[in-house]
Amino acid sequence: MKRVVLLGPPGVGKGTQAGLISKKYDLLHISTGDIFRANIKEGTPLGKTAAGYMEKGLLVPDELVCDLVEDRLTKDDCENGYLLDGFPRTVFQAERFDAWLAARGESLSVVLDIQASNDILMERAVGRRLCPKCGKSFHVKYDPPKAEGICDNCGSELIQRADDRAETVSKRLQVYADQTSPLVEYYKGTGKLAEVEGSRTVPEIFEDICALLGE
Ligand code: AMP
Repeated sequence: MKRVVLLGPPGVGKGTQAGLISKKYDLLHISTGDIFRANIKEGTPLGKTAAGYMEKGLLVPDELVCDLVEDRLTKDDCENGYLLDGFPRTVFQAERFDAWLAARGESLSVVLDIQASNDILMERAVGRRLCPKCGKSFHVKYDPPKAEGICDNCGSELIQRADDRAETVSKRLQVYADQTSPLVEYYKGTGKLAEVEGSRTVPEIFEDICALLGE
């Protein structure tokens, strides 16, 4: 039973790798960003609060995110292990999460830290397109759909996430450098950190991750 955290700046491919990992290792993929986006779509109070921060590229307040994740992880479908994508994002969240796990007699298996330069990240994020219906993601240059702007899977019109626009991406990269990158040192200190070079292709990165996670 594995409890895995995926760490890395916006646009490094955490979501893509999370999909591959959760399938191969049968881990539940929990993305805090996806949970917030679903709440925004449904117009819930949580969605309304989160949207104000997300649109500006800012982080949603720690307490709110921690409550949400802790609540989600107590559901039965997490019993075989899970993969956290986009959480924790601050040292506060990481410390509170470790304390929460410890109180349950649990601990993380590994923290996979995927890294790439800001130039690469900017290009990847700004070119990213998503299918609002089935969730499949594309990239205008690296993974284009067969027909421009249309999902290969279900034929819906692709969208660009509001927080993938150039201005917001640079803000998110700044927020990552300021608030999330200190987590690398934090997890080094706990002995859980494994570094993964994220500037390569999706299968290459996945191969490295599999080597770290084992069969
Ligand atoms: P993501 O899809 O992981 O890039 O998340 C999109 C946005 O959701 C972020 O830019 C934040 O505004 C918010 N968010 C997601 N996860 C967290 C978190 N752990 N802490 C604070 N804000 C978060």
